[in-house]
Amino acid sequence: MSQPFRRSEPAGFDAASAGRHCPPSMDRPGEGSGVDFEAAHLIVRLGAIAANYKTVQRLAGPAVVAAVVKADAYGTGMARVAPVFVQTGCDTFFVARLEEGLALRPLAPEARIFVLDGAQPDAVPALISHRLTPVLNSIAEIAGWAAAARATKTRLDAGINIDTGMNRLGLPASELATLSGEHVKRLEGLHIVLLMSHLACAEDAEMKLNRLQLDRFKTALSMLPPAPASLAATGGIMLGKDYLFDLVRSGLGLYGGNPHPANPNPFAVAVRATARVLQLRRVDKGETVGYGATFRTKRPSVLATAALGYADGLMRAISNHGTAAIGGVRVPVVGRVSMDLVTLDVTDVTGPLSTGMDVEFIGDTVTLEDVAAAANTISYELLTSLSHRATRRYEDAP
Ligand SMILES: *Cc1c(COP(=O)(O)O)cnc(C)c1O
Repeated sequence: MSQPFRRSEPAGFDAASAGRHCPPSMDRPGEGSGVDFEAAHLIVRLGAIAANYKTVQRLAGPAVVAAVVKADAYGTGMARVAPVFVQTGCDTFFVARLEEGLALRPLAPEARIFVLDGAQPDAVPALISHRLTPVLNSIAEIAGWAAAARATKTRLDAGINIDTGMNRLGLPASELATLSGEHVKRLEGLHIVLLMSHLACAEDAEMKLNRLQLDRFKTALSMLPPAPASLAATGGIMLGKDYLFDLVRSGLGLYGGNPHPANPNPFAVAVRATARVLQLRRVDKGETVGYGATFRTKRPSVLATAALGYADGLMRAISNHGTAAIGGVRVPVVGRVSMDLVTLDVTDVTGPLSTGMDVEFIGDTVTLEDVAAAANTISYELLTSLSHRATRRYEDAP
């Protein structure tokens, strides 16, 4: 057991020499580093992820809820998370890349897997052999996929992405018009299982572009043969029933992020990032902290140095204005976040402090959105930046 750090210790007391507490060994083989002292954890609550899937179903019903598991399931680990979605009843997935689809196929053998990147010519053979469904983004991709259908003498499934205002991927209006006029010929040999588009401003219900994109999408649907339709990602679901169509593509909410940060979060916290306190120290008023000496103590202070840094994905941008939590009490980040370490001002913590104790950097007290805001970014970037140096730990598999 570690020794409590007593506030009655004389200034300069350094608790690093106190014994370190060892965590219980990992719950499953293959996770964890095998060493007794693990400095930082990324804890993924599989039960919360399953519950969030059901919450999306409740919010989006009767639309089908597809799970978006691109970027290693937003950093949570697709290999562990995808089977949870399958068990929860999910049979439709989206990935961005072909490689992600290849990795997902054995985890969800029966599922429909859409690949958002489309079907570049050299991706076609692998898409076909792994039964992946490309979301075709241009007339050229449609032509290539239709040619593959002819060459293999099979009917190939496909989605089609229509650009309604993102100007990123998808058929622009001119190509939509062409396809509309010549769909009998151009879609020959294809089974269109999804017509989709993507909203640019779904996190903000006030943005006029949402309604404009909705109208453009409806027009596009009227120009093409009937097929299941999809417009909303997590944020779009909360814009109202008009946006649901037949299928929604949910990512962020499943992992506990708040798609409309200005409103209360309907989703359960599914990801926690924690790190151990490596050292506690008392410093006098007027001392500086960390690289660049960017923080100066305004009072005699107690500082805790924890084992998390920007190499773990704790963004350096939160230097001097991020927050962490000890036993549910928020404590400020002081000084710069460095590669492996971050320093906290724990002077106001009234509960016990000890080396080896866990500090929460993302989770129940400090939300993804709190950290993202402090880093001047979004929860998506924060989640997908969490590196694999922190030991992954999976809790309460359903
Ligand atoms: C990433 C992505 C999604 C999922 O968005 P969330 O906001 O995470 O729910 C849906 N559709 C497309 C096209 C995407 O790229």
